[in-house]
Amino acid sequence: MHKQPTTMSEADAFIRECAPWADSHRRFLSDLLAIPPLFQEPLSNHTTMRVGGPAEALVTVADIMELRTLMEYIETRRLRHFVLGKGGNTLFTSRGFCGIVIRLGRTFDACDIHENKVSAGGALSLPSLARQTAAQGLTGLEFACGIPGLVGGSLVGNAGTGSESLSDHLVFIDLLDRKNEIRRLTREEVGFSYRHSNLTAVSSVVLRAHFRLRQSHPQATRQRISSLTEYRGETQPLKFPSAGCIFKNPVPRKNGDSPRSAGALIEGAGMKGVTVGGAEVSRIHANFIVNRGHATSDDVQELIRQVHARVRERFGVSLELEVRIVEA
Ligand SMILES: Cc1cc2nc3c(=O)[nH]c(=O)nc-3n(C[C@H](O)[C@H](O)[C@H](O)COP(=O)(O)OP(=O)(O)OC[C@H]3O[C@@H](n4cnc5c(N)ncnc54)[C@H](O)[C@@H]3O)c2cc1C
Repeated sequence: MHKQPTTMSEADAFIRECAPWADSHRRFLSDLLAIPPLFQEPLSNHTTMRVGGPAEALVTVADIMELRTLMEYIETRRLRHFVLGKGGNTLFTSRGFCGIVIRLGRTFDACDIHENKVSAGGALSLPSLARQTAAQGLTGLEFACGIPGLVGGSLVGNAGTGSESLSDHLVFIDLLDRKNEIRRLTREEVGFSYRHSNLTAVSSVVLRAHFRLRQSHPQATRQRISSLTEYRGETQPLKFPSAGCIFKNPVPRKNGDSPRSAGALIEGAGMKGVTVGGAEVSRIHANFIVNRGHATSDDVQELIRQVHARVRERFGVSLELEVRIVEA
């Protein structure tokens, strides 16, 4: 696990590691992008956990032309890059990211609804998608109202609840593939499972998703959103920054028995309320780690390590991470 540079020599070594990041890259980004790129931008400003060191560059692409030009530049020079949504399932280290973090701009957040067909941009927020479809009396995506992610990142992790996930009503996805071509893939071609998709293998960027929902009544769909929002407010620690559930729930056993949830295992291992620095295992929901205000990514990662070790020691279960830790 990396630590933030604390001495001059550590800082020098960090800068040397990033040395190939030439001024020419900065100039290229500044010339290309309509929205000025941010250099050495703290990633704590762009993740829901509010931790993470600086990105060499954080850029917001205004449209598909900019995105394709940028991806071509990145590919030709083999630069490291990371496409970021709301940062709700992503944990950058305290050293940040030695490359380009890419966000999709406003032209990617449209939501078009025709009868029961919904086309949602990769940068549309899930709560907005849930509210807009519910307002039309369309049912199927109400569960997404409390998930603070964007459509692209949420499809990559197949976000959802215990009983529903974003891929359930998905028909196809438009994406920019690794050859910088726009492709359309059906849900089956992508391949989804519990909190997982094969998208990272085929895609560089999710541009748009197309869903088919069922017609219901606006009063019923709005009511469902209200009760789900109320339930989340009672069962999740929403007053502090977090990344939602840290671990995936163990998969059902072959004999059909449901194993204990990750939260129940963590609570059973006595980890509720345990802290490392400013990071705390939530007292409300044990599968959440909250940032009490001054946590670093190192704190969060150390706490994750301790929780994982204690659950394995106590129950013999090796929990799988739901959040993605991104190497600097
Ligand atoms: C209070 C709270 C509650 C939560 N509740 C839930 C819940 O109920 N269910 C749940 O599943 N999650 C939950 N989460 C976690 C998180 O919000 C979701 O997983 C969310 O869907 C992640 O989306 P994102 O845009 O933040 O993804 P990010 O974290 O930004 O990205 C996730 C992954 O997708 C990739 N990516 C992002 N955008 C694109 C794109 N356009 N194209 C290609 N790749 C891309 C990234 O590179 C990364 O690998 C919760 C989080 C919080 C803070």
